[in-house]
Amino acid sequence: MDLYESIQKQDKEVFGALAGEEQREREGLELIPSENYVSKAVREAQGSILTNKYSEGYPGKRYYGGQTYTDQAETLAIERAKQLFGAKYANVQTHSGSNANIAMYMALLQPGDTVLGMDLSHGGHLTHGHPVTYITKFFNFVRYKMKNVETGEIDYDEMRRVAVETKPKIVLAGFSAYSRELDYEKFASIAKEVGAYSVMDAAHIAGLIAGGVAKNPFDAGFDIITSTTHKTLRGPRGGLILTRESEEIAKKVDKAVFPGLQGGPLMHVIAGKAVAFGEALSPKFKDYAAQILKNAKAMEEVFRIAGVRMLGGGTSNHLILADVFGSLGVTGQEAETLLDRVGITLNKNAIADDTRKPMDPSGIRFGTPAITTRGFKEGECKRVAELMLEALKNRSDEAKLVAIREEIKQLCLKFPVPESFV
Ligand SMILES: *Cc1c(COP(=O)(O)O)cnc(C)c1O
Repeated sequence: MDLYESIQKQDKEVFGALAGEEQREREGLELIPSENYVSKAVREAQGSILTNKYSEGYPGKRYYGGQTYTDQAETLAIERAKQLFGAKYANVQTHSGSNANIAMYMALLQPGDTVLGMDLSHGGHLTHGHPVTYITKFFNFVRYKMKNVETGEIDYDEMRRVAVETKPKIVLAGFSAYSRELDYEKFASIAKEVGAYSVMDAAHIAGLIAGGVAKNPFDAGFDIITSTTHKTLRGPRGGLILTRESEEIAKKVDKAVFPGLQGGPLMHVIAGKAVAFGEALSPKFKDYAAQILKNAKAMEEVFRIAGVRMLGGGTSNHLILADVFGSLGVTGQEAETLLDRVGITLNKNAIADDTRKPMDPSGIRFGTPAITTRGFKEGECKRVAELMLEALKNRSDEAKLVAIREEIKQLCLKFPVPESFV
């Protein structure tokens, strides 16, 4: 456990929040598929004195002096990111996945240009053109969908038809709530046919790609991969933009990130990215990535046997989207609240073409990156899935819910979050 000695002495109120979160993470089960636990080494980097430094610009080309060590840290992060994904260029400065996407749009588009992306109700992300986001005032977003929500197959014919008709500048792949692999060759060939850039937003599955258990879009000729660094990649909260080959694109990306969008980079976070990328390059990370998939399959099996409908018919990655309203008569919000009470954290989620409202949709989304970091194997994951279903089916049985809460807590205490992954 972290001691937070100085904070404890100086600021009891903030210490209270940290101590509470420490206990919550220790005793509760984290199934939100976009969350993970970072190593102590990553946290040390993030808590380091590099936060003191202004480093606007890029290694070797900064606006202020005193950059010997910031250049060292950022160059390490860049070189490791390139090696992990087989990219020729990497920009590690974006503060988040959303910023990475906005910078990518700014690099490749003029106002009024069109982006062809995944329908949001079929798994796309807010930054792929949700009307509540500011970027939709500047760019035009058109959509593709799944052809069959029971198998997860994307409608590539429709994608091509829309692409030919609307002439997008970007064909965008990637998702937040989709459980199958994409056919990157089809994306790339449609992009090529209409003269668009091909971009993969790998925010969720970057760790699976880096770990070699999911296909790398660069192998199909994609131009750019954007990502977060804190989901399956298990690094500090931040963003990443990789360019496969084109120096021209990479230069546009760098300009768009700084000075286009951001000011000074978070050098302490960039050092944390370098540490996390170093961890991801270690052989152990491949085992981690492979176990994420095995664990998701183990949970899928329990849900399948129980007859619960899963979007895409199950999972090929780290997450499952279950139609709990259709299968168990409990709404996504009710399920989220109930499972929270027994110590399982996950999120409600709209399912494809959901008839319910976004704030109380039909589905829940859950995944295995965090519990796999804890050391859970298939057996524990199967048990967690069983406990989830038991809780959902015995919603008003207080004694049962208390027993489930206790079993979850004991399971968590048996698998403390490790401090190191190498
Ligand atoms: C999480 C996510 C993002 C945004 O990342 P933030 O760091 O939260 O801004 C972007 N795209 C996809 C597909 C995501 O899942």
